[in-house]
Amino acid sequence: MSFCVAIDGPAGAGKSTVAKAVAKERGLHYVDTGAMYRTMSLYMLRNGIDSRDEKAVTAVLSEVHVEVAYEDGIQLMYLNGENVTGQIRTDEIGMVTSNISRYRPVREKLVAMQQKLAEQMDVIMDGRDIGTCVLPEADVKIYLTASVAVRAKRRHKEFLEAGQEVTLEEVEKKIETRDYQDMHRENSPLVRAEDAVYLDSSDMTLAQVVKAITDRIDEKRRA
Ligand code: C5P
Repeated sequence: MSFCVAIDGPAGAGKSTVAKAVAKERGLHYVDTGAMYRTMSLYMLRNGIDSRDEKAVTAVLSEVHVEVAYEDGIQLMYLNGENVTGQIRTDEIGMVTSNISRYRPVREKLVAMQQKLAEQMDVIMDGRDIGTCVLPEADVKIYLTASVAVRAKRRHKEFLEAGQEVTLEEVEKKIETRDYQDMHRENSPLVRAEDAVYLDSSDMTLAQVVKAITDRIDEKRRA
């Protein structure tokens, strides 16, 4: 049986930064499930498919082949054979992704992939429904959040560093919209699993968050 850590939480909570650091410290494979949904969105955008049209999105699912590969521990995303890792981190894709991730057939396709990955290796997987749906038997479950203001500030800094011109207000608004949509959808909404450790990172350093999680992992491994 592989060892699994699930990290869920809203946009910009720092899940991926934290998960990457924990993965390195405890020899786990980091699996970014948001990247899988984002890759699917890129297909919709490129092909002019309206992400709010469930029928149109589900009709093309069989044409979309999302694959994950690992190179030096880094997750790469492939869309129909093309490496699209560098193209999926935009705000526009974030919103389209929040739209298409509401549809059950989209989720079923990607959840199956995620569960397969977790069977093959020890993972720390982040997303919105990992502790509740994808890996309900995960050894450690974390719900990582932070205030909207803190999350928007972090995301804004990332966008500026990546050369994307956006205002803090725009980022904050989009984060709120995306969170609302992710938390109120019918299929696998973002909710804290009952047995997840709740971490609010608003006033915590990265090192403190990482330690809180590695302590939990060590405890579980000793048990
Ligand atoms: O985490 P990230 O910002 O890359 O996720 C993008 C979007 O993908 C989320 O806003 C959410 O709608 C969707 N998602 C999801 N379930 C996951 C991971 C991401 O619905 N496990």
